[in-house]
Formats: sequence, C-alpha cells, structure tokens
Amino acid sequence: DKSLVWFRRDLRAFDHAALYHALKQSRSVYCAFIFDTEILDALPRRDRRVEFILAALAELGRDLERLGGSLIVRHAAAAQEIPKLASELGVDAVFVNHDYEPQAIARDTAVASALKEAGRRLLAFKDQAIFEKDEVLSQSARPFSVFTPYKNAWLRKLHEGGDFFVKPYPVDAYADRLASPGRRATGLPSLAALGFEPTNLNALGMPTGASGGAKLLEDFLPRIGRYHETRDFPAVKGPSYLSTHLRFGTVSIRTLARRALEAMHLPGSSGAATWLSELIWRDFYFMILHHHPRVATQAFKPEYDRIRWEDGEAARELFAAWCEARTGYPLVDAAMAQLNQTGYMHNRLRMVTASFLTKDLGLDWRWGEAYFALHLNDFELSSNNGGWQWAASSGCDAQPYFRIFNPVTQSEKFDPEGKFIRRYLPQLARLPNKAIHAPWLAKPAQLEAAGIALGRDYALPVMQHDEARQRTLARYAVVKKVQ
Ligand code: FAD
Repeated sequence: DKSLVWFRRDLRAFDHAALYHALKQSRSVYCAFIFDTEILDALPRRDRRVEFILAALAELGRDLERLGGSLIVRHAAAAQEIPKLASELGVDAVFVNHDYEPQAIARDTAVASALKEAGRRLLAFKDQAIFEKDEVLSQSARPFSVFTPYKNAWLRKLHEGGDFFVKPYPVDAYADRLASPGRRATGLPSLAALGFEPTNLNALGMPTGASGGAKLLEDFLPRIGRYHETRDFPAVKGPSYLSTHLRFGTVSIRTLARRALEAMHLPGSSGAATWLSELIWRDFYFMILHHHPRVATQAFKPEYDRIRWEDGEAARELFAAWCEARTGYPLVDAAMAQLNQTGYMHNRLRMVTASFLTKDLGLDWRWGEAYFALHLNDFELSSNNGGWQWAASSGCDAQPYFRIFNPVTQSEKFDPEGKFIRRYLPQLARLPNKAIHAPWLAKPAQLEAAGIALGRDYALPVMQHDEARQRTLARYAVVKKVQ
C-alpha cells in the first residue's frame, strides 16, 4: 500500500527502476536518501563526491517536488535508519536498486532482515547496468572471465530484445502516487553539518545533478563518431566525462546505451560502437565483482598473489612520490596532478600511472587502487579494481602473461606535443616537445633555456625504466613458474 524508495547511487527522478516499481505497486510512495555515516566517516574531510551528491540531491528534491513528491534526507547509519524510517512512515516495503559492492550487499542484507522482522520487505531491482549478474552467460551457462566473448554475447542479447533493455522506466505515468511533502520534508543538510569542508568542485565548473549529466551527454554526442580516434589523447576533449554521473546515477545507463545505438546507425559511426563497448566494460566489471567478490582484495588470477611487491621505507617513499606527482616522469606526474587537482584522470593515463606503479615502482596494485578510490570522483570499486588488476596483469585479460608499458614512449605517442604535460606541469612548459617526455635526457642548454634545474624545479627520475623492467621480469617470474 505504502512504500519507501531508498535512493543510493541513482540520484534522479526519471527512468529509475526502483521508483517506477514502487509507484506501480503502491498507493503512496515516499522517497529518502541517507548520508550513511558508515561510508562518510571513513572519508577525508574534503571530498568532492560529498559535494557532488549534495548538488545532485538538491536537484532530485526539486524534481520530486515538481512531480508532487518530496525527498527525506537524513544523516545516520543507513543500516539502522532505513528500518526506523520505514516504521515511522508505516510503509509495507522499501524499494532499492541493486548495488554489487560487497559492503553494500552486506548492508542491504542487514536492512532486509531488520525489515523482515517488522513484517516489511526489501525489494531490489536492476537499474545501473544493462545486463547484470547471470544475465549474460557463456554457452555452457558459466560467467565469462574474458571481455570480448562477453561483449559479443552482451550485444547478441541486447539485439534479441529489440529496444526492451534500453527502454526508459516511465516514472511520470504514476507520479500522482508520490507522497506529498508534508511535515517530514526537511531541507538538505549543509556540507558543514555533514562534517565536511568545501573543495574546488564548483571552481572546476563540473556540471552536477541530472541537468549536468544531460548537459555533458549533449556536449558529447556531436563528438561520439570520432571517439575511437580521440579517446587515447589526454590533451584532446575525446571522452564523455560522464563517469561521475554514471557513478551517482544522475544519468541513466539506458539513455546512454540508447543514444550510442542511435549514433551507430549514422554515417561515420565507428566511434559510437567503441563508446558502447566502454559501457559494456562497465557491465563486465560489475558482473566480475558479483561473481568473484574476492577480487576486492585478491588477484583475479590467484597465481599473481605469489608476487612479492616492494615494501619498507624505500617503497613507501616511492609511493609518496607517485601520489604527489614527483616521479620525474612527466606524463605520470601530469596525470597524478590531474587526479589530485580535479578528481578525474583520463583513461589512458589511468593505465599509464597504474602500470608505472606496479611495473616500474614494483609496488602492490592495491596501494594504487586505494589511492584512486580515495581521490577519483567517479570511483567505482568494480571498474577501479578491474583497471588495476588489468594493469598488474592479475585480472581478466586475454593477453598471455604480461606487458610492461614504457612511460616515455607512452608519453611520446599519446601526448606528442606535451600539451597535457604542460597543462599540469607548468614548470616544464618551456621545454621543447622532444625533451618534455624525458627531461633528464635533455641537453643542459635546453634545460637552462627553459629555466629548469632538475632536482629543484622538477624531480629527477625516481628510477630508470630499463632497470625497473628487468626487476619486474624477475618479480613476475614466480607467476610463470606455476603457469
Ligand atoms: P568515456 O571514455 O566517455 O567512457 C564512458 C563510460 O564508459 C565511462 O564513464 C565509464 O562508465 C565506462 N568506461 C569507460 N572505460 C571503462 C573501463 N575501462 N572499465 C569500465 N568502465 C569503463 N572507471 C570508473 O568509472 N571508476 C573507476 O574508479 C575507474 N578506475 C579505473 C582505474 C584504472 C587503473 C583504469 C585503467 C581504469 C579505470 N576506470 C574507472 C575506467 C575508465 O578509466 C573511466 O571510466 C573513464 O576514464 C571515465 O571517463 P569518461 O566518463 O570520460 O569515459
């Protein structure tokens, strides 16, 4: 009769599976978001994501009010607060969208059993993926562990369904069932009330909320056809920059997949197919995490846990140099500066910096994974873990054994004119293109002309790639022995 929709990482009032099903099955529907102290308490006091969520909630609240409803916002431990709120409101069921992260699953299980004790139900729906869990399986009905066959099966299933899997949920059709604001509707807490300090999110000009997500999509669609050519060059506006919106559900994955499919029918559409492929990677990693939650702490390929990473004081110093953008390898440092200053890092650079941490510095991929988790606005356990394990070669990868990126040739190839490097390492701006990828090889006269003293204005390289490469080959030999 009465129900509650608990918003988590789906902060929009349209094309929303849980909201749609709640409205369809109930007479009266409340909406709530809990700032979960279990999550927030572990974060640094400056976190762009908390501000991103606040902005998204302000818009979600307004959108729900326009539809005749309201948003209840609380700051508490969600696992206790949701059952409490459900009983205050006297609802029969709580509706949510699936979350595939181990901690979220544990929380939802606890909430479901607390609700059950009080005679209520937790109903959960697929929303953030096109296909989830067991929906795409191999011919022998097993989960895939390699991307390309998964992708082919994914596309087959999508096409068999016509537009079924990308159709929006028509929330508006039942909007009159939203419970009207009443006295429970409270304003949003301030950032300070949540215990956080402001960041540079506004200064970055990052579009927030559902309107921000829509704006980024409209900005990207005219570029989608060229995505396959532009996506690898960090100085070029190639990708969509939608990842944070996907993370918090201020865009709908069905809308994105539908728009990509539409673009694929237009002439010059190669880019659209490549972009759809990236959305499929996202589903793939959700699926991997669902079937193998152990990857959150262990190598997907268990033999890679035999690798002995560098440890001790020297290793911690190297890690600090990586985090603080002072490895002496300009592309790596520019990438880390981008992450530290904006919370975003270009995909090519995520691969380069992750490869550098594991294969050049010999550090455990989990260190880098944890640093990204703390600093990425779009942090997603499944994709971040998948990306890191890919870089460490311990993940789902069809490549035999492993590859080692050369940080200098990556730089020459993907930032040939050093445009990206100059943007984030202005102290190197006056170096000629040829010297900017490896300043320690520059002629003294070049450095002098550019006003750079290595070791003073910019770091000397923390190691030599060729030597590191040899150490890595030796380090990884323990894997080969058991293969
Ligand atoms: P676009 O190029 O426009 O791609 C569109 C969307 O497709 C992205 O928003 C994302 O949802 C999805 N996507 C793209 N590439 C991948 C990929 N390789 N794996 C899974 N999904 C993908 N992505 C995250 O969303 N969160 C993370 O925490 C994250 N950590 C990463 C860590 C490493 C080491 C690596 C190598 C990759 C990681 N990625 C992560 C994937 C990818 O780098 C980002 O999704 C992408 O850079 C986001 O920018 P965009 O939205 O402009 O991407």
